Amino acid sequence: MIQASGLRKVYGETVALDGVDLHVRQGEIFGVLGQSGAGKSTLLRCVNVLERPTAGTVTVAGQELTSLTGQELNRARQRIGMIHQHFALLSSRTVAGNVAFPLEVMGVAKPERERRVAELLDLVGLSGKAGEHPARLSGGQKQRVGIARALAGNPSVLLSDEATSALDPGTTESILALLRRLNRELGLTILLITHEMNVVKSVCDSVAIMTGGRIEESGPIRELLARPGSRLAAELFPLPVPEPGTVTVTFTGQADEPVISHVVRKFDVDVSILGGALEEVAGSSVGRLRIALTGDESGAALSYLRERGLLVEVAA
Ligand code: ADP
Ligand code: MG
Repeated sequence: MIQASGLRKVYGETVALDGVDLHVRQGEIFGVLGQSGAGKSTLLRCVNVLERPTAGTVTVAGQELTSLTGQELNRARQRIGMIHQHFALLSSRTVAGNVAFPLEVMGVAKPERERRVAELLDLVGLSGKAGEHPARLSGGQKQRVGIARALAGNPSVLLSDEATSALDPGTTESILALLRRLNRELGLTILLITHEMNVVKSVCDSVAIMTGGRIEESGPIRELLARPGSRLAAELFPLPVPEPGTVTVTFTGQADEPVISHVVRKFDVDVSILGGALEEVAGSSVGRLRIALTGDESGAALSYLRERGLLVEVAA
């Protein structure tokens, strides 16, 4: 649905994007995780060409946006919704007026506009607030207005720039649940950027980890966690740097099987548990365990764990 290739963006001396490739599949929620200054917002603005990349191409829904200008680009952009950290609502307009705004710009006639606004407010659970002004709404309600407005043009893609960063944890969860519902019910592809691992954990199917204008690692979360040396696993499960010879076992989906007790029973080994954690990620349990194995059959025990589909990494 979104394909970015070789994106570069330079502001004077600053290289905000340094060769970014991004591949977002239709119908997924794709997170870009990175610290402040990593280039996330620049990437998002390049995806809908609010910002022209210095080099590289962006294709959304089969259309190369970086080759378009003027009216053609505007029309293509209408199929891409965007929501923001600070909501960017028009304070002088009511909730309904804010959602109607993009429809007015698109030239949608009044009766159709009113029908559509009512439908959108219903979709985000704000039907009772149509006549209110933004100042009277809570943060979560403001973001719901932002989401309704972003969906006005029936986009196939929604871009979210830290949409929950100004919200408290409970409200964040409710907005993320709404995004997940819209993703499922409308088949909406969502590209969301965030500096919070919790956001990635609770809604993303895939993730890209971004540092210094580059993507360090990207792909479906389950695949990344099963990959040796995963940055995502290291960030999700902060364990100390392992002592040489210690073993880190990553469970993706087998977290409820008593594999460690099997190992101890089947092989002549002792297992010391040095650390570990269990996390709920992308709807399933993922665990990481740091262990030390001793005994003559340590090698065979590790092979057994690998045969069970666990990722087994032995520190050098
Ligand atoms: P993030 O969203 O991950 O915090 P940004 O994309 O906003 O990162 O910024 C990446 C880098 O590009 C930062 O060093 C920032 O200062 C710089 N930058 C972003 N936008 C501009 C701009 N319009 N002019 C100059 N520098 C910018
Ligand atoms: Mg940003």
